[in-house]
Parts: sequence; C-alpha cells; structure tokens
Amino acid sequence: DLQPVSRALISVSDKSGLVDLGKALAALNVEILSTGGSAKMLMEAGVKVTEVAAHTGFPEMMDGRVKTLHPTIHGGILALRDNPDHAKAMTDHNIGGIDLVVVNLYPFEETVAKGADFHTCIENIDIGGPAMIRSAAKNYGFVSVIVDTGDYQAVINELTETGGKTSIELRKKLAAKAYARTGAYDAAISNWYAAQLGETYPDRLVLAGTRQQVLRYGENPHQSAAFYANDEKRIGVAAATQIQGKELSYNNFNDTDAAFELVAEFDPKVSGPACAIIKHANPCGVAMAPTLADAYKAAFACDTTSAFGGIIALNQPLDAATAKEIVKIFTEVIIAPDADDAAKEIIAAKKNLRLLLTGGLPNPSIPGQMVKSLASGYLIQDRDNALTASPELKVVTKRAPSDQEMKDLKFAFTVAKHVKSNAIVYVRDGATVGVGAGQMSRVDSSKIAASKSLEAAQNAGETTAWAKGSVVASDAFFPFADGLLAAAEAGATAVIQPGGSMRDDEVIAAADEAGLAMVFTGMRHFRH
Ligand code: 5GP
Repeated sequence: DLQPVSRALISVSDKSGLVDLGKALAALNVEILSTGGSAKMLMEAGVKVTEVAAHTGFPEMMDGRVKTLHPTIHGGILALRDNPDHAKAMTDHNIGGIDLVVVNLYPFEETVAKGADFHTCIENIDIGGPAMIRSAAKNYGFVSVIVDTGDYQAVINELTETGGKTSIELRKKLAAKAYARTGAYDAAISNWYAAQLGETYPDRLVLAGTRQQVLRYGENPHQSAAFYANDEKRIGVAAATQIQGKELSYNNFNDTDAAFELVAEFDPKVSGPACAIIKHANPCGVAMAPTLADAYKAAFACDTTSAFGGIIALNQPLDAATAKEIVKIFTEVIIAPDADDAAKEIIAAKKNLRLLLTGGLPNPSIPGQMVKSLASGYLIQDRDNALTASPELKVVTKRAPSDQEMKDLKFAFTVAKHVKSNAIVYVRDGATVGVGAGQMSRVDSSKIAASKSLEAAQNAGETTAWAKGSVVASDAFFPFADGLLAAAEAGATAVIQPGGSMRDDEVIAAADEAGLAMVFTGMRHFRH
C-alpha cells in the first residue's frame, strides 16, 4: 500500500538535518510548505519553499502561537484521499493534500531543564505542532509523519527506492512513534505544572521524562531496559555525574537510588558523617560516626559478607581516608555529594568502580510519586517522604529510653523505613548491628537480624552477639508479643515501632516484663 508524497509540511524547532531533508525532498519533486524560521533556513540554503502563511492566506500571528492552526492545513493532512465527500470538501474549499508532515516541537523539556521561569516554560508549550502530528498520525493510511530528526534518512531512502512513495508499514511505525512523542510531551508539561503547584494527584501522568540511557539489560539478562529521568526535578541518581567506572546496570540504578535516598535522611549538620551500604535495595550496614571513614567501617562491620559487591552511599564528600577503606574490597558503586582530589585518585586505581557525584543531598521530605507496575496496569502513590527523625514519639513502657537509646532508636527507625518489609533493625552506638529484611514473618526478620549480629561479633573476634545491649526498630507494629520477645532475647534494651496493634496492651506488658523501654511512632513504613 504505497502512497505518493507530493506535498510536505516542515515546521521544526530542532533544525538539525533540515537543509539536507529539504534538498532531498526537492530533488524528489516534493512541494515544501514551511513555517517562519524553518522556511527561512530552507530558502537561505536555496531550497524552494512556500510559506504556510502564503498557502493559507493567513499570516502567522500572536508571536507564533497561531501558525499552522488552519483548516487548509488540517484539512490537507486529515482528508481521507479515497473518500468522495472528503475529496469534494477539498475541492470546494481549495484545500491541497499534505502527504508528509515533518514536525519537532518547541523544546519544552529542555526549557524546563535549563531552569527557565514560569512564563518562559508556558511560552515553550507547542500547540500547532502536536495538532499537526496528531492529525498526520491519525491519517496514517495516506500521510507520513516525522517527529524525530533521526528518521529523516529512512523516509528519504524509502521515497528514493519507490519513486516518491511511502509504505503502509513505515507510515504506521511513524504514527505510533508520533503519538509516543505527543504523549510524552504532554506528560512533561503536566509533571512540570504539578511541580510548580507543589501538588501531586493520581491523574497526573508520571511516566514521562527523558530517556537517559538504554541499559545493557534489565533485572536479568533476558530483559531489556532503559533509564528515564524526570525533566522538572532531578535528584538522587538522576542528578548524579559519573566520574569513572563501568556503565551502570539496571540493578545498579535501583540500588544506588535506594542507597542515596537512605543516606540523605541523615543531614550531616545534625547526624554528622553517615554511610549506607546497599545490596539488592536493602541496607546491609548503615552507620553514623565522627568521621566518614569510621562511619564506613562501622557500616561495613555490620555485615562484611553481604557488603561485598555493594553500593555505598555517603552523606558527605568522599575523602581519602574513606576511599582507602572502601577500595579494600570489591564495591560496585559509590554515590556521594562530592569527592576530593585525593579520594578520586585512590578510586581511580579501581577502573570498574563507579563513582557518582551529585553535588548535594536531596531533601528527603520533598513530595513525589512512585509507580509500581502490575501484570497489566500500575499503582501510583506518594513517596514515603515522612521524616522519622522527629516523629511524635510516645513512651509507652514504665521505663523511658536513655538519651543514647533514644538517639539509636530514631536512627534505627529511619533505617527501617528503607528496609523491605518485614523490617527489623538492631542498632548500637549509631550503627546497625543486624538487619532483618523482606521476610514474610516479623519473627523471622527478628531472628535473622539477631543471627547477623552474632556473625558480626564473630567476624570481629568477639563471642557475644552485637544485638546485646542494642535497640531495635520495627517498620510496622508487632501484632503479637512474640516478635518483641525475640528481640529482647537477642539482647535489645529498647524498642521503636509504630504501635496500633489490637494487642498493643499485651505487647507493652511483655516489654515491661522484660524491662524494655518502648516508644511508639504512630507511623508505619512498609516498603515493598
Ligand atoms: P519555525 O522555527 O519554523 O518558525 O517554527 C517551528 C515550530 O513551530 C515547530 O516546533 C512547530 O511545532 C511549531 N508550530 C507550528 N505551528 C504552530 C502553531 O500554530 N502554534 C504553535 N504554538 N506552534 C506551532
């Protein structure tokens, strides 16, 4: 099903490849209609062009807001060439068919990315362009639409091979791509607008953004994958510059983002240096300490086995002392706000190790949305941006936590927020000493965390599990006393949990019985 191309309309903001395209079309005897800037560039290159304004008899007006929005244009694109009524309308109203539409849109995404003001962003919303793209794509049976400068050559090739015609296969492909482009464009506008108002709402299209990278593969080698970044707000891994190392994989992106989100909870002005080591999106060690190197060492000591091949996130610029510790074992990625030259030099010795620098820490309380795909469809929710550092803590036991316990409890609860449920986190002196993640039973998570704390002790040449004298956090309430008692047995002296179980009374009584101090946060942090 070949369709002839005798008239094309070209209206492009990105003018790369424009002149070559114009020359090629002219050589194929295609009449070219074009708008202001595009027409000018073609004419200057010696390509014969008819201005859209001359074609419609209507000038471009209102600063270009109205250029191509005219029945002569849209009738010429949309008319079904094999429909007698449409053919009559074309004759009656002197409308000539337009067989090829070449449009790329006002650079809205780039304008937003540059940090332009509100008014400038609004002015960069293209109106006529998307309308023409949609018209041409709708009439794919007769009309070809190009939205990507990368497709110029393929269309020219086909026109050359067929003596000026396009195939239905090519037109369908171009139409599908065209709607993907207008969809992404409107999504970018909607995302930007929502961010301007500081609002999130379920109707908002969140699957927008710009593709940054096609990844080698997805979670597994048989899955294809790509990384997209938001246009209006880039934080975390999307804002990072890679200084060195191999290309990030899908799992690296996922884990690195999780790592940085976690460490960003610890404002260096409040907590001092902090370090998180992540494996499979779960922390295997998190610590704060007076120096960054000590924070790393303490995080590493929590689970030296799992830390191998991990992702390290720091809340402060990487320094040489910390870098020296890190390169002792195999690490996949380091993400930090910055790194000094001495540290960079040490890391440079490990060629594959990725070093990502973000220029700062994201604010953990900013609003945002998360998408989780289902077998067919997806779920959207606000991100869990609740701060755990200063929740309304309620002491529910006879004994109140000591100052050190309280400090560790808050830290443990913040870490637990970033551990897949069921999450149980033991903390001692500002460092995790046992993390139980992702178990179907809270008691199992407790047991795993406790056994990890024994391993950690043994690795350090000690015999008493590090959970002894620790505090423990649970991401959700203990439904029964058993989970709490398991923690007490492991040696925890204080507990932080949301509370709110039907059996809270039983759980509190068990805590009192065991001499534990316990605080309720009133807020749960499931994570899946
Ligand atoms: P030019 O540089 O040729 O003057 O303008 C090209 C740009 O104008 C393209 O990005 C195209 O999508 C856009 N455009 C074409 N027609 C209209 C219209 O009627 N209204 C608006 N706002 N933009 C248009």
